Amino acid sequence: MSETAIEFVDVVKRYGMVTAVDRISFSIQRGEMVTFLGPSGCGKTTSLRLIAGLELPSEGSVRIAGQDVSTRAASERNVGMVFQSYALFPHMSVIENVAYGPTIRGDDKKAAAERGQEILAMLGLDGLGKRLPSELSGGQQQRVAVARAIVQQPDVLLFDEPLSNVDAKLRRRVREEIRDLQRKFNLTAVYVTHDQEEALAVSDRIVVMNQGRIAQIGTPDQLYNRPNSRFVADFIGDANLISGRLENGRFVAEGLTLPFADPGQEGAATISVRPERIGLDPAGHGGTVQSATYLGSRYEYMVSAGYGSLLVSAPITSTPIAPGAQVGIVIPEDGFTLVESS
Ligand code: ADP
Ligand code: MG
Repeated sequence: MSETAIEFVDVVKRYGMVTAVDRISFSIQRGEMVTFLGPSGCGKTTSLRLIAGLELPSEGSVRIAGQDVSTRAASERNVGMVFQSYALFPHMSVIENVAYGPTIRGDDKKAAAERGQEILAMLGLDGLGKRLPSELSGGQQQRVAVARAIVQQPDVLLFDEPLSNVDAKLRRRVREEIRDLQRKFNLTAVYVTHDQEEALAVSDRIVVMNQGRIAQIGTPDQLYNRPNSRFVADFIGDANLISGRLENGRFVAEGLTLPFADPGQEGAATISVRPERIGLDPAGHGGTVQSATYLGSRYEYMVSAGYGSLLVSAPITSTPIAPGAQVGIVIPEDGFTLVESS
């Protein structure tokens, strides 16, 4: 049975005139990894700090593990945080860093060190306990920071853009490691990023934020395939947004007619179509290929049609379609989503 680990109810956070978080509500289940995703300044870090208790809400309530913690300070919440800078103590060895929290909390020093060693071993860091943080790679320092947080057995583990200091080449590996750890320890984790690919890769669910509000909450698959707005369609992956009308159970734009399931809806509308859902038929017509770009694993075409330009992603075939060619544009019945209607 699932249990609610974190719940926000109508949470608002203002800094003077700025409303950083504008009445958001959501809940996160135990053992779930949820990502806050959105452009810079949309309120991700503030939301995370509200969970940690580093900020208190101006309105609304924050619940952790079934308790209202809205007015509790960070030290009165059992929350671990992994910062982008890792914030390891540079003059302490790895094991001293990891055992520091439990020791401060009053645990026996030897027991804390043993527990720390166990966790280091589980994270593939055994043998490195005596080193200084400066003697480790970025990815290893990241893991020490995670070890230091989970040794405290927090109710929730928070990550604020944890990969921004990790080498671009290593990012994919480190994010997989974080996800593995989260699964292995069945941690409830909240992860902040502005990188949509990272969010898709590590999350059970994603909270997409825009200007202090929640634009959509869903699994990576739901957000990618069923975005509920232009903003989400555009922010996650590449989207072709086509404007037209809904009428008589169809979506109609200049030179394009698609069946639309809900015949009750009428009026101006915009649909989103992913580049890989569009087929190009060299024997058809309706579009003109403007450019064909070879990207190693696929071709990308720009195709102009009566209703606008489309980005089309196609598998590599022996003969690409040449610029200037006429093509038919094929959008399957389940290949588009309504993102706006009047
Ligand atoms: P994100 O992490 O998504 O980039 P933040 O949560 O850091 O966004 O910030 C959201 C908004 O709140 C921004 O407009 C930011 O300038 C503002 N803000 C954040 N922290 C403070 C603060 N301590 N004082 C004043 N404004 C702040
Ligand atoms: Mg931030």
